[in-house]
Amino acid sequence: MTEAIWNYIAGQRQAPRGETRHRVINPARLDDVVAEYELSSVVQTDTAIAAAVEAARAWRLETAIRRGEMLAKAGSYIMDNAGTLGALACREMGKPLAEAVAEANYAGKVLQFYGAEAQRPRGETLNSGRPNVHLYTVREPVGVVGAITPWNFPFSIACWKIGPALVTGNTVVWKPAPHHPLSSQAIMEALEAAGLPEGVVNLVHGGAEVGDRIARDERVGAVAFTGSTMVGEEVFRIASARLARAQCEMGGKNAVYVHRDADIDKAVSLVVEGAFRSAGQKCTATSRVLVDREIEEAFVVKLVARARELTVGNPADARTFVGPVVDERQFTKVRGFIERAVAAGFRIAAGGAEPSMGNGYFVAPTIVLDVAPDAEIARQEVFGPVAAVMPVEDIDEALRLVNDTRYGLSVTICTRDLSAAHRFARDAEAGVVNVNLPTAGVEMHAPFGGWKGSGIGMPEQGLKILDFYTKWRSVAMQFS
Ligand code: NAD
Repeated sequence: MTEAIWNYIAGQRQAPRGETRHRVINPARLDDVVAEYELSSVVQTDTAIAAAVEAARAWRLETAIRRGEMLAKAGSYIMDNAGTLGALACREMGKPLAEAVAEANYAGKVLQFYGAEAQRPRGETLNSGRPNVHLYTVREPVGVVGAITPWNFPFSIACWKIGPALVTGNTVVWKPAPHHPLSSQAIMEALEAAGLPEGVVNLVHGGAEVGDRIARDERVGAVAFTGSTMVGEEVFRIASARLARAQCEMGGKNAVYVHRDADIDKAVSLVVEGAFRSAGQKCTATSRVLVDREIEEAFVVKLVARARELTVGNPADARTFVGPVVDERQFTKVRGFIERAVAAGFRIAAGGAEPSMGNGYFVAPTIVLDVAPDAEIARQEVFGPVAAVMPVEDIDEALRLVNDTRYGLSVTICTRDLSAAHRFARDAEAGVVNVNLPTAGVEMHAPFGGWKGSGIGMPEQGLKILDFYTKWRSVAMQFS
């Protein structure tokens, strides 16, 4: 018996209806069918957009303080139920339970963070050059926001779009990836329990067709997308062509540079964290490791030993470090990358494309050595637990390789040398630079956004994104 799947449109739960059936299988136990449902049609998408348009009039006039209170309440609801939410994501997409619970808690805090923004000014008072004129600015909502989200963070990415969109007075049509309908519904339940009026957030389970419809629809004033670079670029083109706002967070090929003076144990730990947590399925996952030749051997020996020690298996088990990858498509894709790296002559020092362990889509933490900078494994986003190691002569070569990619999301330098750290922070072409910290890991009040093929439009999180969800208005008022 699989769980009931429902869209949430105009405050009503209704079954998604369309021509394509979608099956969600627990990637750690392939006989566990979690859900089976039809992906929504464009007709249902249209209805959801119409509901958001209808709700936008009153929601814009609701006090920001009240909107903020509702977001705070939804955030608390998510945090109170983080254990249940985490278990859903663990079963639907294989994220290790502790990580999934932590993500749910983070998502709740994100809603609270944006809820608190309601108490801050939404404009400025300016000095006018004209006598008796009160000159001020206010931010107005854009209207209807389309939020299109990926499967790898089923809770937090939705909340860091829905939170700022709602607090600034927009209504939302949210299309999550079809991989985790129950996790998405849990977020919707939290918003419903917080008392959001009908139509303010509408959830539409669907695939590319629904996302495409949202991007194209003239009634959607802003499209906030997170996902692959290929799809993000297309969504951006479509939305911008009709002069809508678009903001796309996309893929990465994130590098760690281990400088010759690095604390090797620390460098190994942060590469293990960055490359193998969430089975490498993070946009910020460490994918390339550039190591100074002087310490390469010592570093690689320790890295390989640590990778081999990691527990791969049941994501619900607290001892598991690496769970399965999300589905068969991802499993085949990641193994394909490893097989082609082997065929290209690179040495696999840990892991590899062995048959999956047990009854699930498991890929062992894999380390590929002596990778050439122009190799496929050094250039394409793998989105699996695979690290490509490349030796470098010095920081000049490291920076050249760090930047020799179409992506620009997150990079790390491991060093105790202040000059090297500053130089790296200045010259690396990436939206996020870390010194002695993993490439993965964000703080909600700091802007997060990729450069180059990793992001178009404004960075998410933090307060900068409020400009994306609002239009500025200047008001000049002569009072005598
Ligand atoms: P994806 O691009 O396949 O899908 C993302 C979303 O877009 C899903 O909801 C999907 O159904 C929808 N979609 C697919 N085709 C569409 C189309 N033609 N028009 C409109 N919508 C469409 O990505 P994914 O496989 O779900 O997620 C993995 C990717 O997301 C990776 O590349 C990863 O790096 C990236 N990602 C980026 C960030 C970031 O903040 N930069 C965060 C998480 C994931």
